This record gives sequence, structure tokens and C-alpha cells, in this order.
Amino acid sequence: EEAEKRDHRKVGKAMELFHMQEEGRGMVFWHPKGWVLWRVLEAYMRRRLDAAGYVEVKTPQVLDRKFWEQSGHWDKYRPNMFVCETVEGEELSLKPMNCPGHVQIFDQGQRSYRELPLRMAEFGACHRYEPSGSLHGLMRVRGFVQDDAHIFCREDQIEEETERFVRLTRLIHGDLGMATDHVALATRPEVRAGSDEFWDKAESMLLNASRKAGVEPVIAEGDGAFYAPKLDFIVKDAIGRTWTCGTLQLDYVLPERLGAEYVAEDGSKQHAVMLHRAILGSFERFIGILIENFAGAFPMWLAPVQVTVATITSDASEFAEEAAAAFRAAGLRVETDLRNEKINYKVREHSLAKVPVIAVVGRKEAEEKTVALRRFGSDAQ
Ligand code: ZN
Repeated sequence: EEAEKRDHRKVGKAMELFHMQEEGRGMVFWHPKGWVLWRVLEAYMRRRLDAAGYVEVKTPQVLDRKFWEQSGHWDKYRPNMFVCETVEGEELSLKPMNCPGHVQIFDQGQRSYRELPLRMAEFGACHRYEPSGSLHGLMRVRGFVQDDAHIFCREDQIEEETERFVRLTRLIHGDLGMATDHVALATRPEVRAGSDEFWDKAESMLLNASRKAGVEPVIAEGDGAFYAPKLDFIVKDAIGRTWTCGTLQLDYVLPERLGAEYVAEDGSKQHAVMLHRAILGSFERFIGILIENFAGAFPMWLAPVQVTVATITSDASEFAEEAAAAFRAAGLRVETDLRNEKINYKVREHSLAKVPVIAVVGRKEAEEKTVALRRFGSDAQ
């Protein structure tokens, strides 16, 4: 019942955040308020990534079939790709993931061991075909933007980079109001590539890194990818549901396949190791989770509208505009409500819209140049 009340599709509609329609199955139309929320989240992520030593890139949305053949996607992933053909007969695909594009940037020019680790981030828009029956609001879509990054590093840097990632992920989830429930270490599957020695080493690097970051992972026996183990971060929302947000996947295969080499200290050419990692997963799904976690009552810093200045009487309109300008100048996202409606009606309406602060202005406030503040969820003024 509680989950139904928080359903992000319902809350998203009531708060005018986004909509979806048949003609764009699994694609999102972000409305102005929803897009504000997105931009605030994106700006926050960018600040965190900058501070953590990532560099940001942007790679093409559409690439030739030849490219996807080389990356191996055409063979294995073709049914999930949006393929198109030009009048010149070129066969192209929308990117289903960002990794091969990032390797192209890594591969330009000669790389030295001194440049590693190279943490390459992209808010990368990806498209994947999902059967229409499996689509679900923002949680399962066909077009989405990942907070993606690939860390190119030497083998002896994997552990430290993983430790940093575990710390960063927990910090970000915490800032966003999501408690880490547990971290899962997905170990060797039955059908796999690589020797037991390789898997022993790879699993112990991820295990040690987690422990150094203060987390004892839960072992997810046999859940690893065909070619290497991974870490999954499981968060718990306000009503106790768990969501997997955040993954780190170790990868020796793709750098070799796409020739991601660097010159080592001894002058030899070596393949870099790649860590595929995301913290939110996709912006779409994460915003869906945030909406349900907060039931739309976002903390002040995330709220699309932070303050509504509402008048009691039309005499106060001029001062209400002045007060709104002052809030705006202070960096807050503000709306005014100068309609000729009863103040209780206005307060109820903005409370339903989950605006964190309502600044009420009547004749007295206009004369004294003050506002009466009402915080969301409290009766006190
Ligand atoms: Zn990747």
C-alpha cells in the first residue's frame, strides 16, 4: 500500500516531473521540473567525480556496424540494438553502451604507465531494445543515461582503485539519502574463461579492496560475469525495499580485444585493465528510486522548486515579487503564487506539490518587509 502511494509514475505525474507515451515506448519526456531535478543530480555527480580525479568525455551516439562487429556487440548483443540504415546503405547502430567508445579515446596516441590510472567518465546516453511488456516507468526503459566511467589502470592499481570506488559510492549514496544495505561480491560462475589462479587473484583483489574501505562484502557465489568478478552495491529505501545501484566490473578482455595498450616502466607494451563502474546506474532509474524513496518530498537541495512565495492579499503582490527576487539572488529555485485564492487553499496545493518552503506574504509582512515561513511537513510557521 505504501509502495503504491509512492509509485514514481503517480508522484511524477502529480508533481509534473515527466511523462511517457506510446509513440516513444521506454523513452522519457522530461518536463521542466523533472529536468531541474535531473540537472541538480547531474551537477552534484559532476562535482563528486571532478573531486575524485575523473575526466569527463562525450562519445558518438551512432556508430557504424563495423565498429560494433569489432567490439563483439554485433554478434552477441544484436537483438537489443537499435539499428538503422542510411540512404547510402550504411548500417549503423545507436550505442547500447559506452565502453568501446571510451577505449577509442584511450587508444589515440601512445599511453604511458604514468598516465594510469585514467578515470574516464561520461554521462552516456544509451539505447537498448527491451520487449514492450517488460518496460516499467522509469525503472525499465529503452533510452537512458548512465553515470558511466571506465578506469584504465595497471594490474597493481586495481585494488586501490576499487577501494576508492567503494568509498566514493557509499559517500554518494549517503548524500542521496540511500543507506548501503550490503555490497555483494559476485564470484566465478560455473562456465567461465580464465584459470583458477586468475579467479583467485581477481576475487581476492575485490575482497581486500572492500575490506580496506570498511565493508565486508556478502559473497554472491557464482554470480560473476563469464570473464571476471564484480561488486554490486545494494541500497535500502525508506520503506525497506532494496535496489541494486552501483557496480564495479573487472575486465581484462575488452582492453585486449580493442588494443588498449600502454608503455610500461620497462618499455614493454602492456594491456591496461578496465574497471567498468557506475554509481547511480542510470539517471532515469535512479530518479525513479529517489521519487519513491522520498515519496516526492525531496530534501531541500534536490527539490525542483525550493520556495514558493504565496500572497494572502493582492496588496502584497509587489513585495512578494521582491521577496522572490531576493530568494532567487541567493541561489534558490523559486516560484510565486499571486493568485486571488485563499491562503489555506494555496498552502494545501503547494504542500501537495511537496514544496519544502512556503513563504507567506500578507499586508503586515509587506509593510515590515518580512515573510512567514512554513516548512513542508510541519504545522508551525
Ligand atoms: Zn563499460
